[in-house]
Amino acid sequence: MLLRLWRRPQAQRVLGSFRLVPLNSCHALVLNADYRPLSYFPLSLWPWHEAVKAVFMDRVDIVSEYDREVRSPTFSMRLPSVVALKRYVPPAKRPAFTRFNVFLRDHFACQYCGASDDLTFDHLVPRSRGGRTTWENVVTACSVCNLAKGGRLAHECHMHPRTRPYRPTVQELQEHGRSFPPNYLHHSWHDFLYWDSELEP
Ligand SMILES: [Zn+2]
Repeated sequence: MLLRLWRRPQAQRVLGSFRLVPLNSCHALVLNADYRPLSYFPLSLWPWHEAVKAVFMDRVDIVSEYDREVRSPTFSMRLPSVVALKRYVPPAKRPAFTRFNVFLRDHFACQYCGASDDLTFDHLVPRSRGGRTTWENVVTACSVCNLAKGGRLAHECHMHPRTRPYRPTVQELQEHGRSFPPNYLHHSWHDFLYWDSELEP
């Protein structure tokens, strides 16, 4: 099915300036069948096309909609802004060890300088010295700090992470997720919103 974006003629005008929500920002918040977010924010977000697909597959109920529509020759629909799963999914007991969850544990901030841009991993015990990719040995770091630390140990370069890395609970990650304002999507999150595969130790 070919979906074509249709711009509503009565698109909002705010203070005289034209403002239309960009299609890529039309994420749908996904609720479990009990109307709680499916996972910790912002992983409870689906891109608009996933949400539309789920509506057609009858997997979700639409709770709320955007003004924005998609159209094909045979149908039109407003994009869902909130959907609820029809079948309840039991919440995970332990958070998956993924890049996104490590960043979320560390509040999307470099654990050495606090920067929030250009984030990557740092191994406290470098891989070259036998360090493993585990919750306890990986911290969020900006590329600059990661490069500066290189293959050294914390005490060798006097670079100590603000928080000692640990395995978080689901509740902790939920709490960290909630500390971001609801409509706030940091640009650095976009690459990770739909990519959350388990990391190899
Ligand atoms: Zn840094």
